[in-house]
Parts: sequence; C-alpha cells; structure tokens
Amino acid sequence: MSKLNVYIDGTWLFKVVEGNVFDRFLVDPSKFEIDFNKLNALMLQHISKSHPDCTSIGDCYCVTSIFDLPADFDSWVGKTINHAFSTQTVTVTQDNIDRTKANISNRTAFAKAAVSAGYDPKCIFHIPLQEWMLLNLLHPDLRYQEKQVDTTVVALLVRDAIENPNDCFALVAGDADILPAIQVAYPNYTKNVFPVLTSPDEKDGRNRQTSFKYSQYRFSIDTLVLQNHVGEIMAGNVYRCTDCHKYFSTANPINPQRLASGAILPRCPKCRK
Ligand SMILES: [Zn+2]
Repeated sequence: MSKLNVYIDGTWLFKVVEGNVFDRFLVDPSKFEIDFNKLNALMLQHISKSHPDCTSIGDCYCVTSIFDLPADFDSWVGKTINHAFSTQTVTVTQDNIDRTKANISNRTAFAKAAVSAGYDPKCIFHIPLQEWMLLNLLHPDLRYQEKQVDTTVVALLVRDAIENPNDCFALVAGDADILPAIQVAYPNYTKNVFPVLTSPDEKDGRNRQTSFKYSQYRFSIDTLVLQNHVGEIMAGNVYRCTDCHKYFSTANPINPQRLASGAILPRCPKCRK
C-alpha cells in the first residue's frame, strides 16, 4: 500500500481559478470555488489507474502567501509609488485599495478551504504588504514574484520523495521552471511524480514566460488536466445543465431519487427562464 502526497503551488492555482480559467464550463455568473476534498479524491482516482496500490491520501501541502495589510492602508489613496527597478509609477486609487482587499480576502478563503481539507497550515506565509508589492499587484507585467512559494514546493516534494520512494506525488503547479530543480535533486521523479495542470496548453508553456516546458520532462504517469473535471472539483451541490451542458451549483441539493429516476432533469437558472 502506498500513499498519494500532494504539492500545490497555491499562488498559481488561486490565480488561474480567479482568472476564470474554467469560465467557459460554468453557467454565468456562477463563481468557481475548488473543493479540496473533491480534488484529492479526483487525484487519487487518477493515480489508481497506473498505481492500483496507491489507495490513500498522505501529506498535503498548498503553499501560498497572504499579505497582511498595514494599519494605515486606507490612507494610501493618492500616494505615488515608485518601483526600484523600473520607471513605472502608480498613484494609488480607492479602487486599487478595494481590489487589493478583495484579492486578499479571496486568497484567505482559498487557503482556509485547503487547510480545512487537511492541507498543512504551515504552508501559508504571512507577508507584511509593502508599497512596491502593491505596485506589482496592480501592474500585471510587474508581478510580485513569490519565490518562497516555488522553492517551498520543490523542497517539500524532494524531501518526501526521497524519504518515501514507494509513495506517489501530485505536483499541482503551472510554472515549469520548478522542474529542473526537481529533476536534479530527485531524478526518479519520472516514476512516481505526476503533473496536475488546469489546461492542456500549460504542458507546452503556451502563453507563459518560462524557460522550461512540462512536455520536455519524461513523466511516466499521465498528466491530470483539471479542465476535463470541472464538475468533479467544484464546491457545492454541482450539476451539469441538460440544455447548455455547463456546470452550475445550487444552495440546496436537487432530490437525488428524482434525479436518478429521470423525473427531474438538471437545468441551470438561465435555461429555466
Ligand atoms: Zn443551461
């Protein structure tokens, strides 16, 4: 018997989910939230195809950072922020303040959902928000690089893979630039590590500024592509609409007997109109 251990670059996963990567599968304006217990069950089902002896979830890590706001954050409106390595400046608006707060509260909810599904709470780094970080948050090209997240994902995975060579390891990370470190520190990754990506494009590094690609690495276990399983990992009572085939969730579950017998067909609120 072996276990499936999970290593999530939570900053990346949060960003792709917030960035509406699954939107075309969802009934608008349904917001997608990951149910981490469902995600674990999906990954376990995936690994059991190639490793039938891998039957339970082991250690789970979802690494991310959460900014702690300074006490005077609301008074930053009107402040001009200069970036040390760039000529770009930003004058902070009320909208910037509001969006930053909303982002932090969504990230906190995301991290809490992971922790309540058994993910290690020590992997949430609390970072005091500094001015230059806000500039990077507001300028998409000047992304605040959370290097502590990438390096922690690699360190934990390599440590555990060396200690438990018979276990399996799910690597949920879109940035292929962490692969050289894994390859050099744990060359056996080909046998028992598998990538979990959100879309097939990520394998070839399309739309990303990275030096490496997942497709260059010889994983013997198939990649799990989450966009093929949107309904299986979405939080709540999830149904697929009979008419538009998109996923939607309801506050109360639809009567399971009547669904199973075909007495009710799941229809999203849009198609019911
Ligand atoms: Zn519909």
